[in-house]
Amino acid sequence: MGLKSLASAIALRLRKATPAGRSDALAQVVTDNYDGVVIVDAGGTIIAASLVARKLLRHPGPLEGISIDAALPADMRTAVLQALAVGRSAEPLPLSLAVLHGGDERQERLVVQYVATVSEVDGAAVACLNFWDVTERRRAEERLSFLATHDPLTGALSRTGLTNAINERFETERGRAEGLTVLAIDLARFKPVNDALGHAHGDMLLKQAVSRLRSTGAAYVARLGGHGFAVAHPGLSPEESGQFCDLVQARLVEPYQLGPHRAIVGADIGFSHSSVSGYDPDRLVSHADMALNVSREASGKSYAAFSPEMDESLRARQELETAMQQAMERGEISLMFQPQAALDDGSTVGVEALMRWMHPTLGAVSPERFIPVAEETGKIVELGRWILEAACREVATWPGHLRLSVNVSPIQFELIDVVAEIRDTLGRTGFPAHRLDVEITEGIFMSNAQAVIEALQKLRQLGVGIALDDFGTGYSSLGYLGRLPVDKIKIDQSFVKRLPGDQEAGVIIRAVMMLSEALDKVVIAEGIETADQAWMLRMMGCKVGQGYHFGRPKTAAEMRAMLASPDARAAI
Ligand code: C2E
Ligand code: MG
Ligand code: MG
Repeated sequence: MGLKSLASAIALRLRKATPAGRSDALAQVVTDNYDGVVIVDAGGTIIAASLVARKLLRHPGPLEGISIDAALPADMRTAVLQALAVGRSAEPLPLSLAVLHGGDERQERLVVQYVATVSEVDGAAVACLNFWDVTERRRAEERLSFLATHDPLTGALSRTGLTNAINERFETERGRAEGLTVLAIDLARFKPVNDALGHAHGDMLLKQAVSRLRSTGAAYVARLGGHGFAVAHPGLSPEESGQFCDLVQARLVEPYQLGPHRAIVGADIGFSHSSVSGYDPDRLVSHADMALNVSREASGKSYAAFSPEMDESLRARQELETAMQQAMERGEISLMFQPQAALDDGSTVGVEALMRWMHPTLGAVSPERFIPVAEETGKIVELGRWILEAACREVATWPGHLRLSVNVSPIQFELIDVVAEIRDTLGRTGFPAHRLDVEITEGIFMSNAQAVIEALQKLRQLGVGIALDDFGTGYSSLGYLGRLPVDKIKIDQSFVKRLPGDQEAGVIIRAVMMLSEALDKVVIAEGIETADQAWMLRMMGCKVGQGYHFGRPKTAAEMRAMLASPDARAAI
C-alpha cells in the first residue's frame, strides 16, 4: 500500500465510530510508524502523530490535541493548509524539503523530506503529513558536489569548479565585455620544502598559499593539482594584468610560517586574457599554462603573457585531426576488451569495449586524447558505429552469460539516431539486446536532456541496459539519479583509487551504494587495482568491478584465451 492510501485509511478509521479496540490499534499504527506522521483535522489541530514525528520535530510532549502553529515549521504548515484547501488530488504530490532547527542552538540541523495528502472523512477533510529524515543523504550529496568542484585540501576550486565558474561568467553579456585574465601559477621549490619538512607542513603551505591568493582580490582561486594553481581576475587591461601578476608573485614569495619552521618558495606565473584566448575556459587555462612554461624557462621576468605562437598544442591537435581522417581506412583503429568481474568470486561477467588507435609515427594515441577530437569533428559517429558492430560480432561468439558494454558519446546522440543504429546493428550481428549495455556520461544530459531521456527509454524497451559512466566526476547529484533512465552506475576510478585509506571516499561510495540499492540500480566499481580495494568494495555491497586487478584491456584473441582457461583470472 502506498503511503497516501495508508494515511487515508488510518485517517478514516480514526474518525469513524469503530469499536474502541480497533481504533486504538490503528492509532497505534500511526504512533509506531517509522516515518514522521502527523494527522491534522480541518481546523489545524493534530489528531494523531507518530513517535518519530515527535522526535524529528523535537517536541517535548505528545503532539495530539495541539495546533499545527505550535508544532510545525512554517513551510510544512503551509503544505498542510494548502493540502486542506485544495482537497484530494489525483496528481501525485511533489516531495518537498524542510530544515528543522530545533529550539536549542546546539541541536543538529535536520533535513526532512515531506508530503501532505488529504482524505475526506465523513465530509470533513483530514490532512496527513508524512516526513522522513534525509539529513545524511543531503550531506553526502552536498559533499559530492563540493568534491566535484573543489580541492578537498585547500577548499580552492578544482579544475572543474574553475571551468564552471568561468563558463557561468561568460554566459552574460557583461561578463564577456569585462573580459578575464587567467593566471597559471607554479610554486617553485615546493618539493624540497615538502620533502624536508614532511607532508603535513607541505599541506599547511598550500593552504596558506590559497589564502594569500584569495587576498589579492582575484575572483576565482583554483588548485589544479600538486603545487599548481590558477586565479582569474575580471576587468583588467593587458598592462594591469601584468601588474596583477607582480602582486600575486609578491604575496606568494613572502616567507611561510609552518609551525616552528619558516619556508620560502618561488612563484612562476603565466597568464592569458580572454581577448586573446577567447571564452573557452579550458583554452584560457591551457594558454596561461603555456605562458607559464615560457616563464619557467626565461630568467629575469617573473611572469609571461601568452602569445598565439606558443600554442603548439593547437598545431598538434590539427595534426591529430588530419591523421584521424585516415585512421579508419588505414586500419589503425582497433578494439580491446576489459573484463568486468563478479566481486564475490572474481569470475568474468562481462566486458567493456575500448577503442585503441595506433598511428604509424605518433604511436599509440590515448582515447582520452583522440575521442575529444573525434567528437569535435563528428568523426565519432563513424568510429562509434565501427566499434559497436565489431564488438557485437565478436562477443556474439562468446559464452552467452557474458555482457558487453559499449561507450556511446553524447555527440553521437546529438548527431544521429542512436536507437535506430543500435537496433540495426543488433539485427545485423545477431547479438541479443539483453546482453548489451550502453555506457553514457552525465554530460549527455547537459543539452537536450528530454530527447536523450526518450532515446534511452527506447533503448531500454529494446532490452538494452544503460550504464552511467564515471559517476562522481561531473555534475553528479545523488538527488537526480532517481529520475534518469539508467540501470547501472559506474563509480569513477578516482574514488576507488583512494581506497582503502581515504575515509571520505569510503563514505561517498557507501552513500552511492545505499541510494543505488534503494533505486534498484546495479553499481560497478571502476579502476580496481588491488585485492584490498576489491574486498572493501565487496564488503560495501558492490557486486561487480572492473580494473587492472581483474584484467587490463585485451585483444579479442587474448580475451578468448582468458575465458577458455580453467582459472580465468590466471591469465591476467
Ligand atoms: P571509460 O569508459 O571510463 O573506460 C575506463 C578507462 O579506465 C579505460 O581507459 C581503461 O583502460 C581504464 N582502466 C580500467 N581499469 C583501470 C585501472 O585499474 N587503473 C587505471 N589507472 N585505469 C584503468 P582507456 O581505454 O584509455 O579509455 C579512456 C576513456 O576513453 C574511456 O573511459 C572512455 O570514456 C573513452 N573511450 C574509450 N573507448 C571509447 C569508445 O569506443 N567510444 C567512446 N565514445 N569513448 C571511448
Ligand atoms: Mg566506459
Ligand atoms: Mg569510466
